Amino acid sequence: MTKELTLAQGRTYLAIPGPSVIPDAVLSAMHQAAPNIYEGDLVDMTFGMMPDLKRVARTNQHAAFYIANGHGAWEAALSNVIAPGERILVPATGRFAHGWADMAAGLGAAAEIIDFGRAGPFDPARVHEALVADKAHGIKAVLATHVDTSTSVRNDIAALRRAMDESGHPALLMVDCIASLGCDVFEMDAWGVDVMVAACQKGLMVPPGMSFVFFSDKAAEVRDRMPRVSRYWDWKPRSNPQEFYQFSGGTAPTHHLLGLRAALDLIHAEGLEHVWARHERLAQAIWAACEAWSQEGPLALNIKDRSLRSHAVTALRIGAPHGTALREWVTKNVGLTLGIGLGMAERDDPAWHGFFRIGHMGHVNGQMILGLLGSIEAGLTALDIPHGKGGLEAAAKVISGV
Ligand SMILES: *Cc1c(COP(=O)(O)O)cnc(C)c1O
Repeated sequence: MTKELTLAQGRTYLAIPGPSVIPDAVLSAMHQAAPNIYEGDLVDMTFGMMPDLKRVARTNQHAAFYIANGHGAWEAALSNVIAPGERILVPATGRFAHGWADMAAGLGAAAEIIDFGRAGPFDPARVHEALVADKAHGIKAVLATHVDTSTSVRNDIAALRRAMDESGHPALLMVDCIASLGCDVFEMDAWGVDVMVAACQKGLMVPPGMSFVFFSDKAAEVRDRMPRVSRYWDWKPRSNPQEFYQFSGGTAPTHHLLGLRAALDLIHAEGLEHVWARHERLAQAIWAACEAWSQEGPLALNIKDRSLRSHAVTALRIGAPHGTALREWVTKNVGLTLGIGLGMAERDDPAWHGFFRIGHMGHVNGQMILGLLGSIEAGLTALDIPHGKGGLEAAAKVISGV
């Protein structure tokens, strides 16, 4: 008996919004014997790497790293500047702002959420209003998500900073760049961001397990006035270590450091601005295909306005059960894994099967994106899901640059 033919052999492609594709250079850098953590190459390399890490965040201020995922960086950042009972303001545009606010609530903070729904960005004017109303300056920080990975909206952080400045309120600006760092334009110092969190497994192309908190001089002063800071999350020794172990508050994430060094080499060899431009062009190719497909049938991009879309992730609606059916079809038949919908419906709701996301962050190039789009079109065709014509042609035109 012949087996059913599938075309999923060969190298698989994980196109979800994190973890992202791991470059061979990162994998091979990590493939080595346990390095000496007392002295020598790893120690020197790590001290030398911090400026290159800060360059990706466009900051000359401070950085600390943690053996943790993005949730750990959320808690680390909060632990340094928010004491129990203090207030934070959270403009929310999807799942992740709520997650960070919840993390703050777990640490005893009082979170005030302004919910902007799931289909657009936040409005800095509303934050301005809330800060102006807070005459006693009780709000300690504004927590914003740059790119919300569930809705794929990109919020305007520079505009939020301007709104905060115009209010004359001293609150810290804390930004989640976990999905955007190394993908979308982000300027920590130029935009006046006080605290920024990121993780290694998205635009930074390293397997999950390391995350980062970047902070300003102003945030460092706020940390110094805290009644107490958890020893483990304290960014002070980590950002200015006298001894190697202080970087990580204990044993170093040896192989992750090696992988991160290789990833930063890739980013800086390409040039950060080129990395941003590449993500933009690849995103435009994806949008061109999706917009063409959406001319007919159930497919729709979650964020209608191109200028508000992330360059790292695209969230789509396609109606149940097509989202799950399409994801399953491409995995089984062509070796491509697409992201599940997130925060659009509850898991036990049949509507949950009507969403999917495309991750296009980090180590991705033109042929991968064209392959991805061709695979989605094959899935739409195989599953008989009605869709507009000309998607691949439109994407090829964007990739061609004409
Ligand atoms: C992925 C992500 C997180 C969570 O990171 P984990 O590493 O999964 O803990 C938080 N915020 C944003 C915007 C993300 O994309």
